[in-house]
Amino acid sequence: MKKSKVLVVGGTGYLGKRLVKASLAEGHETYILNRAEIGVDIDKVQMLLSFKEQGAHLVSGSFTDHQSLVKAIKLVDVVICTISGVHIRSHQILLQLKLIDAIKEAGNVKRFLPSEFGTDPARMEDALEPGRVTFDDKMIVRKAIEDAQIPFTYISANCFAGYFLGGLCQPGKILPSRDSVVLLGDGNKKAIYVDEDDIAMYTIKTIDDPRTLNKTVYLRPSKNILSQREVVEIWEKLIGKELQKPSIPKEQFLASLKGLEYAEQVGLIHYYHVCYEGCLTNFEIGNDAVEASELYPEIKYTTVAEYMKRYL
Ligand code: NDP
Repeated sequence: MKKSKVLVVGGTGYLGKRLVKASLAEGHETYILNRAEIGVDIDKVQMLLSFKEQGAHLVSGSFTDHQSLVKAIKLVDVVICTISGVHIRSHQILLQLKLIDAIKEAGNVKRFLPSEFGTDPARMEDALEPGRVTFDDKMIVRKAIEDAQIPFTYISANCFAGYFLGGLCQPGKILPSRDSVVLLGDGNKKAIYVDEDDIAMYTIKTIDDPRTLNKTVYLRPSKNILSQREVVEIWEKLIGKELQKPSIPKEQFLASLKGLEYAEQVGLIHYYHVCYEGCLTNFEIGNDAVEASELYPEIKYTTVAEYMKRYL
């Protein structure tokens, strides 16, 4: 079967650049939206040029120029959007509505993968304010996709390893301490951690796969389903030392949000749902969804212990 041509929107981003690499590695003709607004951001421009050297095509376009998006989309079969959606960096999830309008007009797209890559927003109806904005916005995007009958795949990637493992599951930290760690509650709720390069590779595998058409794909590599305590134990083994482990009860954690900046509150609520409520693992994925490590057993994913060696 001929491999789909792919357009990555947000290709210079934290996840987006990995998707570009995975798409090229898997032999897809790969296009990257080169937004006019990048301007003189030298890091982004250099990154785009290096992708071009590796065989990607840069397509000029802007979210403020509908026809430029339509033109870019007409070049490909599959659109993957990795636009920003982390408030402490930038949150532009609803801009995707413009992309959806362009996909509708172009009429040629066989699959659209919106910027999801986290907790399944469809399961977060009861999420707390203000963190729920991420899930609400992602659901608005889903509705627009489904109303327009655009074929889709939603990737529920669970926890990016860099954020969660790096900080031993503590918000606001992305490097592990060798002395102490604050446990969120009893530290026993299970979460799921996935190396961002593996997220990109699983994502690319789904795009031409009929088994993932109009489905949510959960990334649940079995060895990486661990509690905060288990993550800490792995780190302790690697450094040969036990950490101090004070813990913060749920009520105190929620009270600590008061007075913080909005963006920080959003992030903390996400940690709350993952680490106190176990929102990533407290459900079976069901028959209308699929699991990536089962679909693609050939991918040798990075285990938590392997991932954490980089911090030694
Ligand atoms: P980034 O913050 O790295 O941003 C990605 C790209 O979005 C940018 O490089 C840029 O691409 C584009 N972008 C940013 N601002 C604008 C704008 N104003 N207009 C148009 N494009 C813009 O995103 P992440 O990689 O951190 O996030 C991608 C997805 O992953 C999101 O859905 C997010 O919610 C999710 N996520 C999940 C996590 C988890 O633990 N599960 C953790 C982090 C993110 P360019 O300039 O190239 O056009």
